[in-house]
This record gives sequence, C-alpha cells and structure tokens, in this order.
Amino acid sequence: MNVSRQLSQLQAIELEIESKEQALAESTSQLGERETLDRAQAKLSTAQQHLEELKKKQQSQEWEVDDLGAKIAAAKETLYSGRIKNPKELSNLQHEVDGLEARRRQLEDEALAVMEQVEEATANLATMESELKIAEDEWRNKQKKLSAEIARLKDELSQLKHKQQLVLAEVDPQATQFYYQLKRQKGRPVARVEQGMCCGCRLSLSTAELQRVKGNSLVQCSSCRRILFLD
Ligand SMILES: [Zn+2]
Repeated sequence: MNVSRQLSQLQAIELEIESKEQALAESTSQLGERETLDRAQAKLSTAQQHLEELKKKQQSQEWEVDDLGAKIAAAKETLYSGRIKNPKELSNLQHEVDGLEARRRQLEDEALAVMEQVEEATANLATMESELKIAEDEWRNKQKKLSAEIARLKDELSQLKHKQQLVLAEVDPQATQFYYQLKRQKGRPVARVEQGMCCGCRLSLSTAELQRVKGNSLVQCSSCRRILFLD
C-alpha cells in the first residue's frame, strides 16, 4: 500500500476518533444532569406548602364560623327566653345578634373563596405531580440511554485506537512525523484528488503532478501543501 493511502486511512480513523470523543464528552456531561427535574421538584414543594397553608386557613375559618354559630344561638336563646324585660337591654342584645350574624355571613363568603382556592390548588398540584412523574420517567430513560451510548462510544473508540496503532505501525515514521506536522497546521493534512483536482484547495493539478500522485512517493499539493491521495 502506498504511503499516501496509509496516511489517508490514518486521517479517516483520526477524524472518526475525534468525532466520537466529542460525542462521548457530550453524553458524559449530560449523565446525572437533573437541573430541570430539581427545579420542577422545588416548584412542587412550594405548591404543596401553599395548599397546606390554605387548608389551615380553611380549618380556622370553619372553627370561627362554628364559634360564631354557638355565640349567636346563645344570644338568641337569651333574647327570646323572656328573661330580659328591659327594652334597652333587649335592643342591645338584638343589635349584638345582628352584628354576629353579619360577621358570620362575611366569614362564610371568605370561606367560600378559600374553598375555591383549595380546589384550584389541589387540581394544580395533581397536574404538577403527574407531570413530574412523566419527567422523572423520561429522565430515567434518558440516563439509561446515555449510559448505553457512553459504553458503546468507549468500545468503538478503543477499537478505532487499536486500528490507528495498526496503521501507525505500518507507516514509515518519517511520513508519520510529516503528517502530524502538517496536521497541526492544516487540521486535515491529506487531500483526496478528484477529477484531477485537489479537494483541499480545489486547485487543478498538472498532468505531471497527477503522474507523481499515482506513484508511490509522498506528493504535496503545490498550492495548499496537503499530501495528495488518489483512490
Ligand atoms: Zn491543494
């Protein structure tokens, strides 16, 4: 096999290694990444707390309504018992009952509003919980896929690196050294020749250059200096 073909193989292997290493780094960085999930969980906790507070408020309103009911009943009982004869006292007591009843109506309206809030918060919480459950399932699936992907990439990389070593063992060390020197400058040191043209810089080669490329020696493009390779 001529040296330019070997170097072209080496370049292809190394490009594949680079792309797989990039994919591996990306997958590795995503593994265990659960920021979105943590945020959703924090939001859920806040919603749970909010619902608890509303329920406490609802409970204390119920107690207060009960308490007022007892007071109203007692006042009415006194009012209609006939024990109080003094009109001024009776009128005061009636006034008190009216006040308590007004307060109870107001409290009942407030309790109704809180009840609606509790219902809404409960429904919201249920939605959030089911959404979080879906997100958690998705996260677990993704983690599984990422782990499998990472294992596959590591395996492929080790095979590619083995292939790279095999090629390196065969190529003339001086050519290898030149290849890496050019790689540092050009990124891709080997350029394919297609329809008499260097694919690295799109320059058409002379017939003499083409003849040399067909031989066994290492030929560089006269324009971009890349190692030319003809299939
Ligand atoms: Zn060129």
